[in-house]
Amino acid sequence: MDDKSDLLGEAHKILAENPPQPMPPKATCRDGYTRDHYMVEAKRKYDFWGWLSLLTGINARPVEVTFQCTKCGDVIEVSRDPRILEQNW
Ligand SMILES: [Zn+2]
Repeated sequence: MDDKSDLLGEAHKILAENPPQPMPPKATCRDGYTRDHYMVEAKRKYDFWGWLSLLTGINARPVEVTFQCTKCGDVIEVSRDPRILEQNW
């Protein structure tokens, strides 16, 4: 019994079952800026209650955040991800 070839066979089996996933392309505008770039503005969209809170001076949580490049105007990402919304109060 050859332990080494056994291990290799095992590795091949694991790789065949779980092929490495390609990284999802990072969203950028035509300048190559990501949503974290300082030229990229996070535009917050609020619902009725959000606006009401803002009008009465209370900080409101947006319902949607649009990341738009202030240089070329490209929309990089529109997010309703709660984690993103939390970061963009
Ligand atoms: Zn741009």
